[in-house]
Amino acid sequence: MASSVEQIKERLNIEEVVGSYIKLERAGNSLKARCPFHNEKTPSFFVSPDRGSYYCFGCGAKGDIFTFVQEFEGVDFIGALKILADKAGVTLEKFSSPETSKKERLYTLMESATLFLQKNLEGEEIPLGYLLKRGLTKETIKNWKIGYVRDEWRSISDYLKSKGFSDEEIERAGISKTEGKNTYDRFRGRIMFPIFDSAGRAIAFSGRILHDDGQSAKYLNSPQTELFDKSKILYGFDRAKQSIRKFDFSILVEGQMDLLMSHQAGFTNTVASSGTALTKEHLSLLKRISNKVIMSFDSDNAGAKAAERSWALALSCGMDVKIAEIPNGFDPADLILKNKEEFKTVLKNSIFLIDFLLNRATSQITDKKKLWSEIKTNILPYIFLLDSNTERSRYVKKISEILNIKEDFIWDDLKKVKLDEELNPEIKNQEDGEIERQINQDVLKKGSIERSIASVIAKKHSSKKDPQNIKDKIQKILGDEIYQKFENELKEKIDELSFEAEAYYGNLSEDNFDKEIEYLILNLREEHFKKELEKLLTELKLAEKEKQAEIISSISIRLKEIMQKLSEIKNEKHNFYKK
Ligand SMILES: [Zn+2]
Repeated sequence: MASSVEQIKERLNIEEVVGSYIKLERAGNSLKARCPFHNEKTPSFFVSPDRGSYYCFGCGAKGDIFTFVQEFEGVDFIGALKILADKAGVTLEKFSSPETSKKERLYTLMESATLFLQKNLEGEEIPLGYLLKRGLTKETIKNWKIGYVRDEWRSISDYLKSKGFSDEEIERAGISKTEGKNTYDRFRGRIMFPIFDSAGRAIAFSGRILHDDGQSAKYLNSPQTELFDKSKILYGFDRAKQSIRKFDFSILVEGQMDLLMSHQAGFTNTVASSGTALTKEHLSLLKRISNKVIMSFDSDNAGAKAAERSWALALSCGMDVKIAEIPNGFDPADLILKNKEEFKTVLKNSIFLIDFLLNRATSQITDKKKLWSEIKTNILPYIFLLDSNTERSRYVKKISEILNIKEDFIWDDLKKVKLDEELNPEIKNQEDGEIERQINQDVLKKGSIERSIASVIAKKHSSKKDPQNIKDKIQKILGDEIYQKFENELKEKIDELSFEAEAYYGNLSEDNFDKEIEYLILNLREEHFKKELEKLLTELKLAEKEKQAEIISSISIRLKEIMQKLSEIKNEKHNFYKK
């Protein structure tokens, strides 16, 4: 496969591939555009033809032609490979193997079954009437390829056989099953909702029973097949992904009807778990496009435990989770049918998960002691799962205000939180769930002087110039320990840093570029002394309070030195561009 990838890369340049999807403008050595992966007004998406890669300063999207097509088309690597091979006129020999053509046949089989079921629905008054009564329009029914299967033992299988598919293929696609000597269709007398993969191909069905006999499941899903991995497929994702990108959040609902009604009403960034338990894979699918998710929650829902599990799972994936509480036992589909504006309001009023939990607890429990016990058991685990300590501190503070207890007391219990294994292996592996209270900050934070200097070094590297003298100066200012971190992050982020340098300094002549570097280093030194100054002043206050004369005098000496240095730097900066 490597050779096909190489061939494709040789024949296609990134400018032409990306340019076929979005409009690129020239910007120095690079090209720029409004980022297709997040919503923005001014372009921060850069493409470098020299390096064959792209980078977005807004959302951090980066990669080569393969990742671009994967992200843009929402396909996996193989999918992108096929699209690009087509463009490049490269034949993928590996992909005409018997294995793949077997799989290709299953896709065709599913497509054929979907068309058959769609045709079946036409003129069937009862199932059609049911769908219309639930609020779906004829257009939605057609768009989502909803179908129907009569209550017969083998109607789908018989049709597929007449189209040349074998019994074995029909069973492998999850259409039929064998019990003893009998093979028959899994789906009988059901309204059929095709489930699509991210490229929009039908790969499974979810069937809703038409006449409830009290014995059969209301909804029946296809089993796991070669095409359908239920832990990785979200219903509606293929159509929602563009909107999720555009609005920068997704809405997660439970059932098919909820999803269809949401899309029909214009909430096109909605996806559904559709009867399967939410998994980390589902969430990472969403997270790739937007980190923000609103989860709808029916307050009278008997399945509240399952909902709470998904909340925790989303937090443990580092997602930004809001809860939209749907009133009075409605589900999203019913509420939209009643009045879509009300659903809009529910979404607008959605609040961050932990605020939601705290509000709920404080409105239900007035006794402070009981409230603390509730928070300790049912809310601290969620706080524990938060991504940063800044976030955790915010809630620790809030709880301490609600209960009027010391923050330290809450931190102690927060450290003792034990989690289910599936939730967060990374945190679980820390001894006794110890939380690192110090925020582990990056040296190369966005907008920092360190980062600007690192990008300059990256640019030197890419134009084959030796940046060693700059590195030496930086090391002297930062000190060995932080310099080590600087070096590591530089290596890790060399690609995006090169892009930054090009975007900021691309037009500078060699001389001016070197001058710019000197100026940056000067700024770094200034910042460094200012930080030390701040630290010393705090120490001085403390020493004065405790009347420690010796310390006061030594701090004062150092302070004087720093003031001197700062004044020198100020002068140097003032005269810098006059030289
Ligand atoms: Zn972007």
